[in-house]
Amino acid sequence: MAVSSPPTGSIYLDHAAATPLRPDVDEAMREAAREAFGNASSPHGFGRLARRTLEEARERILAALGARTAGPGRDRLVFTSGATESNRLALLGRGGPPGVVAWSPRDHASVAAAAHDLVRRGWRGVHLGLEGDGRRAAATAELMATLPSAGPPTVLCLTTACGQTGTLDLPEDEMLADTRISLHVDHTQAVAWISRPIREVPAATLTLAPHKFGGPRGIGGLVIRGDVTLEPLHPGPQELGLRGGTEAVPLATGFAVALEAAVAQRATAGERVATLRRRLEEGVAAAAAAAGLRPMVVGAAAQRAPHVATIAVEGVDRQSLVMAADLAGVCLATGTACASGSSEPSAAVDALQLPAWVAQSAFRASLGTTTTVDEVDEAVRRLALVFQGIATHALQPTSVSR
Ligand code: PLP
Repeated sequence: MAVSSPPTGSIYLDHAAATPLRPDVDEAMREAAREAFGNASSPHGFGRLARRTLEEARERILAALGARTAGPGRDRLVFTSGATESNRLALLGRGGPPGVVAWSPRDHASVAAAAHDLVRRGWRGVHLGLEGDGRRAAATAELMATLPSAGPPTVLCLTTACGQTGTLDLPEDEMLADTRISLHVDHTQAVAWISRPIREVPAATLTLAPHKFGGPRGIGGLVIRGDVTLEPLHPGPQELGLRGGTEAVPLATGFAVALEAAVAQRATAGERVATLRRRLEEGVAAAAAAAGLRPMVVGAAAQRAPHVATIAVEGVDRQSLVMAADLAGVCLATGTACASGSSEPSAAVDALQLPAWVAQSAFRASLGTTTTVDEVDEAVRRLALVFQGIATHALQPTSVSR
């Protein structure tokens, strides 16, 4: 079926929402769909081929993450439909008596929603505040000082790269060593970029989604540490008994190919994309200032993932700006894709306690491995025209009917 193409010449700066499919991923998925089309649960040869293909993808992903793939307490990977479902399974799949769940405005809406559901089930919820640079370290230190020594461990949600601002937040060693904490890490925006400082699977559970790094949409993963037990949200015999339904074998293959490529290139890609992001931020800030508007790069002083820039421009409405930019051929976002279109400012920006105009006007530009320097320069040129239009319009006297 033909679908209409995006406008010719549009510059795509929304890679944190979804990345273009890598050609090698596309090819690998087509081959898997052609060859391994059987049901992975069927006992015959076609089923066995699908099963082998699926399990090979699972092992490749765990290996690319540096997970423990051998021995009785080995880490496991459950394929899900995406990061939202992984976050939900990680939190709502916790059995046992209600405990404490802590999360912060850095976390994706799916984490907050699942945490609220736990609270409705009798868990104690702790909403952690943020520091000015977007981390939740101080709030967590306070929480750790008050953790009960008996009872179920506190489930602490930690998003390594914030989907809104790109600011990084990596677990401290003491947090990882504290047996009173069971850490759920949302690694969705970070895995393609962060090659240091954490071992890849230090957490009880860890969320991934390949559409953030050149892989397919419609599949995600939850890595579960060997000693952690979860209960299914959708029971069935598939996926280690944690997710019923016929497995999407070609998507799993695409996931593995995309992750291996992302891991192999992340150091060089990270440096290149960080340079492009700085160029974009400086260009956009200069363009706004030239139009007489005051810009601010949110989290500029913080450690950030290379691909996300969140920029506020005083006096500008972020939704109008994103629409005007789209008309000018630059694809931006008001925030994480699931919150786009919301009239509420982003929780992750709001929590930074910056002046109100920052949350009102902040928009997100996110880059990827396919972004070029020419695209960045052209985007800046187009946004400069948008800012000039906004400034001219804002300076027009409002007509008053008499
Ligand atoms: N977690 C983070 C940090 C995200 O950035 C996103 C999406 O942008 C999600 C979770 C949800 O991902 P999905 O669309 O795969 O459910």
